[in-house]
Amino acid sequence: MDAGLVTAIKAAVNPQRLAETALALIAIPSPTRSAGPVADELASILGADGFAVERPVADWPEAPAVVTRLQSGTPGRTLQFDGHLDTVHLPFVPPRFAEGALYGSGASDMKGGVAAFVEALRALRDTGALRAGQVLLTAHDHHEGPWGDRRQLKALIREGFVGDGVLLPEYLATPLPVAGRGQAIFEVRVKREGEPVHEVLQAPNTPQVLLAGADLTLRLQALHQRLQAHTHPHAGADSCFLGRLTSGEIYNQVPVECVLSGTRRWVQAGTIEAVRAEFEALLAGLARDTGTQVELDFSISGDAFAISPADPLVAAFQQAHQAATGAPLPLGGKPFMDDGNTFAALANIPALTHGPAATGAHTLDERVTLDELVRVAQVYALTALSYCKMRVA
Ligand SMILES: [Zn+2]
Repeated sequence: MDAGLVTAIKAAVNPQRLAETALALIAIPSPTRSAGPVADELASILGADGFAVERPVADWPEAPAVVTRLQSGTPGRTLQFDGHLDTVHLPFVPPRFAEGALYGSGASDMKGGVAAFVEALRALRDTGALRAGQVLLTAHDHHEGPWGDRRQLKALIREGFVGDGVLLPEYLATPLPVAGRGQAIFEVRVKREGEPVHEVLQAPNTPQVLLAGADLTLRLQALHQRLQAHTHPHAGADSCFLGRLTSGEIYNQVPVECVLSGTRRWVQAGTIEAVRAEFEALLAGLARDTGTQVELDFSISGDAFAISPADPLVAAFQQAHQAATGAPLPLGGKPFMDDGNTFAALANIPALTHGPAATGAHTLDERVTLDELVRVAQVYALTALSYCKMRVA
């Protein structure tokens, strides 16, 4: 990258302005499905700064999304900055700045990251460095589960608020995730007919749901072992994990139901139906062998995703990271699911998750340093410079 341009962009990221934006967003409580007031605040910050703001309802009238663009006026790629404004449902922690770090609800997840996006836009505008393409900033509600179902992001994608590639500022500073597993949460109910009954009064051949549940535990463990062969160099391996098994009321009563729940994760995108069918076949075998009825709730959180390490977005990001910090990032897997999986599945665009090395997400003790927010704002702005100038293939 042009050294003079890199110096100008880095100098244009203003730490104080960035911190003020982040603290203003943190100051407004926004538990998932109630992000309207903080979306209004973001829109007014952008508007006061001279950016034209759109407010698409995007399937959530409680909190219309916030959209703005920085256009170069010359053809090129569109880099999207996408963030969620909602926070998990925990008691509100007000904003605080102390010893170089920001605290409060959403500081780490992800109002700090959204503020870094805003500061990156300002740096690009103030330097006039963006000579081709455009940056599209989108911010929305309905991200955090189980309260949200991601409907607003899905609507934004349907309505065309989509770039050629997207950055997401979740709290993952290293590695650069180029793959991630899909996930389903399962709940299996192993049942028998009839009422609970004393063990000595049960009819002959009464199906034993608790034993069937134990049997299923072993079958799921065997499945997990087989799945270790399904690997991806960056995402890891398929898995089947059992986290909960409940049955029975007292020690000498024959129960009517055993409930097991856990996760099934997979590395290969586009295999949701095959994964589900394999799981259903396993349960059908259990029902047949144990004389029980087996019901399944198989709830898909999202599909697996992978980006080619040769994708132009990866190249642009690595150039930017090198320019901002002196080195590219190692490539790796994404340990959690985020909106990148949704972009990959529904918009079919490359999505990179990269954010500050922040701590305490989903706790009462979120903390992110201003230095980290400055670093990611520089990386975001430099990625835009590198990515947007490439012509769309
Ligand atoms: Zn988040």
